[in-house]
Amino acid sequence: MFSAPAWVPDLPFEPPNNITIGEFIWSSKHGRRPAATSRSPFTCGLTGKSFTVTQAPQRINFLARGLAQVLKVEPNKGLSLDKVIAIFSPNTIDYIPLILGIHRIGGIVTPASASHSPSELEYQLKKTGATAIFTCVPLLSTAKKAAEQCGITHDKIFIMDFPGVVNTTSHISLEKLVSIGEELPDLEALNWPKGEGARRAAFICMSSGTSGLPKACVISHYNVIANVLATATYEKGARSHFKFGTQVTLGLLPMSHIYGLVTVALCATYQGDELIVLPKFTIDTFLDAIQRFKIRRLYVAPPIIIQMLWNRDNCLKHDLSSVASIHTGGAPLYAETAEQLLKMYPNWHLGQGYGMTETATLICTTSEHDIYLGSSGSLLPGIRAKVIGSDGKEIFTYETPGELFVQSPSIIPGYLGNGRADEETFVWDDDGRWIKTGDEVVIRKGPSGNEHIVIVDRIKELIKVKGFQVPPAELEAHLLTHVAVQDCAVIPVPDESAGERPKAFIVKKPSGVGSVDDEELARQISLYVQNHKASHKWLKGGIEFVNEVPKSPSGKILRRVLMDLERKRRARE
Ligand code: AMP
Repeated sequence: MFSAPAWVPDLPFEPPNNITIGEFIWSSKHGRRPAATSRSPFTCGLTGKSFTVTQAPQRINFLARGLAQVLKVEPNKGLSLDKVIAIFSPNTIDYIPLILGIHRIGGIVTPASASHSPSELEYQLKKTGATAIFTCVPLLSTAKKAAEQCGITHDKIFIMDFPGVVNTTSHISLEKLVSIGEELPDLEALNWPKGEGARRAAFICMSSGTSGLPKACVISHYNVIANVLATATYEKGARSHFKFGTQVTLGLLPMSHIYGLVTVALCATYQGDELIVLPKFTIDTFLDAIQRFKIRRLYVAPPIIIQMLWNRDNCLKHDLSSVASIHTGGAPLYAETAEQLLKMYPNWHLGQGYGMTETATLICTTSEHDIYLGSSGSLLPGIRAKVIGSDGKEIFTYETPGELFVQSPSIIPGYLGNGRADEETFVWDDDGRWIKTGDEVVIRKGPSGNEHIVIVDRIKELIKVKGFQVPPAELEAHLLTHVAVQDCAVIPVPDESAGERPKAFIVKKPSGVGSVDDEELARQISLYVQNHKASHKWLKGGIEFVNEVPKSPSGKILRRVLMDLERKRRARE
């Protein structure tokens, strides 16, 4: 078993378990930097519109009061635990204020990916029991289709501002809620008893875990507070080493995913940083925002680094001299890619973090003063880990691969209504409760002599496309509804721009094929996926027709057999 190295400061205090995330983030009582008062926490990277450090908490309160009135909840009693509200929007400067406003009245937020198709959104709304949706005009038609299937009525669909889009709909806008709230008296303090923050859910996020379809992860206020405190404490070393207190940070990673939500947005807010919020990646808006707002720290996923390499001339035309560090996570960043970026920007500190939705979020990361390319750094304070071999025994030697088990106050209490998934994912021993990450790691001594965690493979059944989850079981279930598909298996194949892409092996149903040839059938099946699934789930890794899918005697798909076959084939090419 190992924990954070000696150079990582200890947590300054125990993470509080009787307050909301919002109370923790805004209060200097809980360690928020006093210097934070000067920076605007949220600025739109497209329009420059900002909320100042005084306006942001005010907006949260107004929103909470307005929402309490419109949803007819008794604010001081809070919403009952089953009141889940979905946010289905790209990043905007209202994303975090809205979350904290919902929490202020005891609500739970389920953030939904802006790339969801109507059926994917419907699945999430149903799984989480959402009763209202905040969305924006460009996504309204998708939101309405999903809402209709879940009995969410017109008056429970609210519209958030989106840069450059005018809201002419008859739905209540977020802005309207703020103005309603402005006229109402302040809400009473929540005054949660000890332990309530660990009992109360703050978020329900979707993750497929180690196998199967997406599941609803219940994440408590305490889980998030503990991770924000651990991340900020870890970073304190670097901040004092490089003598800066607060910084301007890029808020591009989707806040609908735990990495963009907790590690980027909530950690930045707690540390008093200014978040430059961008709704989506295009190389030009990304580069323009860095130059215009003099961003110091970039948070990206590996495919954005690839885009920078492919757009070298455009990058070098922009003044990116404000950037001191760039951090990736969500999927592996290989040392070769990192080295190429550092050739363009030799002064940048290039770090990598590793975490999961179920560990809300970060487990380990590289510090700006202990960079080791290809590694995911060292554990955050308060987190313990061990490496377990395939024989179930703990591994104590360097460079021996095994599954990473983690213990942390941020590990979620469990999946909503899915005891079986809980049993598969969380295990107990004499040292307490652990999460089996499903990732294979080695421990390696870095150049500085510190131990680093290096993720070497993924054991669990998950495909990561641009850092987004693609559960193979979800695509297989969908493919099996196609008239010409008798059986199928989906695996990841490497892809230069996205990291991985899904590839399907398909056994044809003779009666469903008709007179079409394989090429046409593959085209039709691809389209069938495109029509129902978000673009990162499309079968861009290809379709191959096979006579049978390899299975164990119990009928479990042997994806490893197909993955090894594919690997060998690609090595020969
Ligand atoms: P998610 O719950 O979507 O954040 O996905 C978590 C999974 O993403 C992990 O269990 C890993 O398989 C993968 N992952 C996240 N960060 C990294 C990283 N730095 N290197 C390799 N894989 C990663």
